[in-house]
Amino acid sequence: MPALLNPDEPMPVRLMSTVWADRSGLHDDLETVDGLREWLAATGDSDPEVEVSPSERDLELYRRLRDALRRLAALRTGDTREAAVSPTREVCLAVEDVNAAVAQAPTWPLLAFEDDELVRRSAGEAPMAERRLSSIAVRGIELLTGPDAADLRSCYAPGCVLYFVKDHPRREWCSAGCGNRARAARHYARHRKGLSVVRGRGAPSVLVNGRGFFIGEITAYITVVSVASVRNSR
Ligand SMILES: [Zn+2]
Repeated sequence: MPALLNPDEPMPVRLMSTVWADRSGLHDDLETVDGLREWLAATGDSDPEVEVSPSERDLELYRRLRDALRRLAALRTGDTREAAVSPTREVCLAVEDVNAAVAQAPTWPLLAFEDDELVRRSAGEAPMAERRLSSIAVRGIELLTGPDAADLRSCYAPGCVLYFVKDHPRREWCSAGCGNRARAARHYARHRKGLSVVRGRGAPSVLVNGRGFFIGEITAYITVVSVASVRNSR
């Protein structure tokens, strides 16, 4: 389930990740109220005893907050990925949308001790879906302006449209799957660059980084690299 994509990211990033891509193109987990209900249940930082029943209006509000956060993350990270462009183009509008989400439901964090663990819940008068929305917006402001802001990144693995918080110095990608695909693509590009057709007598052959191969061999090589790249992608 895509909602479980990169579950270690902070909640605002997880909301941004409801727009994601694979080989068949872009996907949106928040197209329907059912999609939102499933996402809220799967990401559950709310009391599991309380059923979350979002409305059409909630869906609109979550989508607006998501698109606003994506726009502001793009601003923060200098994102140049065309496929990742948010439908909310104006930065000022995105800022207004985040603030509107914060004001949607007066809410405050609540510390709970459950199953021997300290967990964060939200408290307030409004329905759970609205409180969660406000809480994610507050955490979005903290993410965009706090100590994690400098570590927010766009993932430049081929075809990826996600963001992530770089939580250790060598991390380059949003996920291990993206890292594998990026490495396979680099490997393929390096070897493609090294290809040149040798014109001469006898069967046509190709040079790969200086070493000669017959056309049949190189086709087999490219097939092996391509299959490895597909296997490594998620
Ligand atoms: Zn990625």
